[in-house]
Parts: sequence; structure tokens; C-alpha cells
Amino acid sequence: ETARRIDQLKDAAERDVLTGLRNRRGFLAAVTPPRARGKSSVIAILDIDSFKAVNDDHGHDRGDQLLTDFADQLSAQLRRSDVSARWGGEEFIILFPDTSIAQAQDILTRLRQSMRSDAAFLIDDRIVTFSCGAAMVGEGVGLADATRLADALLYDAKAAGRDVIRLAG
Ligand code: GH3
Ligand code: MG
Ligand code: MG
Repeated sequence: ETARRIDQLKDAAERDVLTGLRNRRGFLAAVTPPRARGKSSVIAILDIDSFKAVNDDHGHDRGDQLLTDFADQLSAQLRRSDVSARWGGEEFIILFPDTSIAQAQDILTRLRQSMRSDAAFLIDDRIVTFSCGAAMVGEGVGLADATRLADALLYDAKAAGRDVIRLAG
């Protein structure tokens, strides 16, 4: 009974209450075990574009709903082996294990397309979009380095006008 209670508390500490996804702590706990050598992975950071305007124009509850819808869309589009989390605010992170940059690009592009045809992402006749930076994790490039690079690429994607996915191998 005590062991089960400890597991429940641990799970609660590693989950984001609003979206049900892992939180930052849960993500790091899930990806920390080093993966098999020789197979590269991809880390992606996604940030919803102009999210603050949704809060400002429609209220915080509508913003919260959008975050939940986005998390649900992530879960629907990702593979079982992919690890996703709410990284903070309107930022999300995904680890695509044993995945090439080209494969990750396909999945991210599919996510973008699925949002285009989902009424949940239609606000004031405009489709909600995200920007993304993604980088390879592999030999000589650890998770922390790749996350930093993905963050820099996300910044570039925003500067390029938003609704942009920037990847680096
Ligand atoms: P950009 O396209 O550059 O990403 O602009 P943005 O408006 O998406 O980003 P900005 O950083 O200006 O605003 C993010 C906002 O997200 C500010 C913050 O109040 C809001 N936010 C953070 N966490 C939550 C949350 O849990 N719920 C809601 N409703 N809003 C949140
Ligand atoms: Mg942000
Ligand atoms: Mg944003």
C-alpha cells in the first residue's frame, strides 16, 4: 500500500496538471537513461505562436483549453516510443528516440497539418500555429547540447516569421 502511494506521489510530481503530459521533471526522468549507442535521436522544442494574444483576447480559460488541445494533438500524432512533455508555459518538448532528422521532420509536419484541419485550433478565423527547433542527439552530442541547439533554432524559427520548423542534423 505504501509503495503504491509513493508511486502515485512520484507520478503526480512528474506530471503537468493542466495537460496531463509529463512536466519538465518527468521528461528528464524519462529520458535520462542513456540510449543505445550508434542510434541517433532527435530532440524538438515547440512553442505555440502568438499565444499571449489568445489569453488577451479570449481569456485565460481559452488559453488553458488551447494548451490542452495542443497536448492532445501531440499525443495523437506521436508514436508510442516518443517522449513528450510540457516544458513550461506554451512550450513543449519531444524526444524522438532512434529517429533521423528527416523522420522527425515528417512527424512534425504531420502535426502541423493535423492542426490546420482541426476546429479546435481555429480562433477568430485564424489557425493556431507553432514554431519549432529540432536537433540531433547522437554520438558526441548529448541531450543538453542538443536541447540548447533546438532552443537556438526555435529562436530562428520565430525570427523567420513563425509557423516555421527549423531542423539541424
Ligand atoms: P511567440 O509567438 O513569440 O511565442 O509569442 P507568444 O505570445 O506565444 O509568447 P509570450 O512569451 O509573449 O507569451 C506567452 C504567454 O503564455 C504568457 C503567459 O502568460 C502565458 N501562459 C503561460 N502559462 C500559461 C498557462 O498555463 N495558461 C495560460 N492560459 N497562459 C499561460
Ligand atoms: Mg514561449
Ligand atoms: Mg509562444
